[in-house]
Amino acid sequence: MPIEELVPAACAKIQDFPKEGILFYDVTTLFADPVAFRRCVDELTDRFAGRFDIVAGVEARGFLMAAAMAYKAGTGVMTVRKAGKLPRDTFTKEYQLEYGSAAIEIHKEDIPAGTGVLIVDDLLATGGTLAAAVHLMHQAKLEVAGVGVFLELEGLGGREAIGSGLRVESLAVA
Ligand code: IMP
Repeated sequence: MPIEELVPAACAKIQDFPKEGILFYDVTTLFADPVAFRRCVDELTDRFAGRFDIVAGVEARGFLMAAAMAYKAGTGVMTVRKAGKLPRDTFTKEYQLEYGSAAIEIHKEDIPAGTGVLIVDDLLATGGTLAAAVHLMHQAKLEVAGVGVFLELEGLGGREAIGSGLRVESLAVA
């Protein structure tokens, strides 16, 4: 099965979650499928082959992808965490959710300036989360090599929110 069909097929789909009218794609079923998970990790890593020095995963599902991709590529991995979890000095970026706001953080000064970072998360919706992650990398003077997701939801402006200057790869669009 082509990967653009495999990804949505391997996700559980929950109608009206978290609210009426939303079709929620639950990527945890894809993670639990050994064939689908390996194919997705291999394909997304290959699309950025040779272009990054470290993989940054966005909490929490992005962590699972980032660790596997970094292991495959032979790079290190870094965590983009929800606010309040990191014990040392951080860069923090707030972003808007549908109701209210959230914030994500990375440690300052852990990764040398100029390091090429591939940022990954399971799903691109409005792009608010990944745009905030890109902002954090720029604050830390890291080079964003690109943004990778398993699944992109169409029509929510996610790519536009991240910005046209960056390479954004999704394995499938739904
Ligand atoms: P965005 O910031 O609107 O692009 O939303 C992306 C973030 O919300 C990611 O961290 C996703 O894990 C999560 N998310 C949004 N919609 C869904 C969905 O339908 N399924 C799973 N996660 C979602």
